[in-house]
Amino acid sequence: MSEHVNKYTEYEARTKAIETLLYERGVITPAAVDRVVSYYENEIGPMGGAKVVAKSWVDPEYRKWLEEDATAAIASLGYAGEQAHQISAVFNDSRTHHVVVCTLCSCYPWPVLGLPPAWYKSMEYRSRIVADPRGVLKRDFGFDVPDDVEVRVWDSSSEIRYIVIPERPAGTDSWSENELAKLVSRDSMIGVSKALTPQEVIV
Ligand code: FE
Repeated sequence: MSEHVNKYTEYEARTKAIETLLYERGVITPAAVDRVVSYYENEIGPMGGAKVVAKSWVDPEYRKWLEEDATAAIASLGYAGEQAHQISAVFNDSRTHHVVVCTLCSCYPWPVLGLPPAWYKSMEYRSRIVADPRGVLKRDFGFDVPDDVEVRVWDSSSEIRYIVIPERPAGTDSWSENELAKLVSRDSMIGVSKALTPQEVIV
C-alpha cells in the first residue's frame, strides 16, 4: 500500500474532486480560483481595520460617520463586500470596553479584519466569553479590565458584524495616521486587547 494514501483528508479530497470537475466542465478557471486565494492571502487582513481605526482617531467627522453608519464609512475606504454587508462600530472609552463574538458560528467582518483566528471559532471562546467575559479576557488574553469599566459583549450574526474601535493610546499626539495604524492590532479590534502602546511597537 502506498504511503501517500492519506495525503489528503476527506474534506481536502472532496474539495479537490469538486474543483477538478468544475475546471473540466468549464464552470471556473484555475486563474479565477488563484485570484480568490490571492485576495484572501494578500489583500484582506487586519491592516484594513487598522486604517479605519487610525482615521477615526485623527478625523472627528469620520468618527461621527462611523458611529452613524459604519458600513458606509468603512466602504468609503474600499472595504466592503462578502461578510461585510452590515458592520457596526463599537467604541471603547474609559467607562466601557467592548468585545465581539459569534456564539452561533464564526461571523466576522472579513474585509476589515481578514479571516478569523482559530480561537475566535472555537466552542470554548464562543461559550465562555458570554458567560464570563472579564475572566476570559484576563485568563486567555492577559487583559485585566479594571473593575470600574463595564464589559459589553456583542454577538455577531450573518446580518451584522462588529468592529471594536479601541481607545487611542497615550503619547501619540504627534503621530500621523499611518503611524497610528501600526498600533491597531487585530485583537484590539475584536476587543480582546487594547491597542498597542508606542513602547510596544518601537523596537
Ligand atoms: Fe457566525
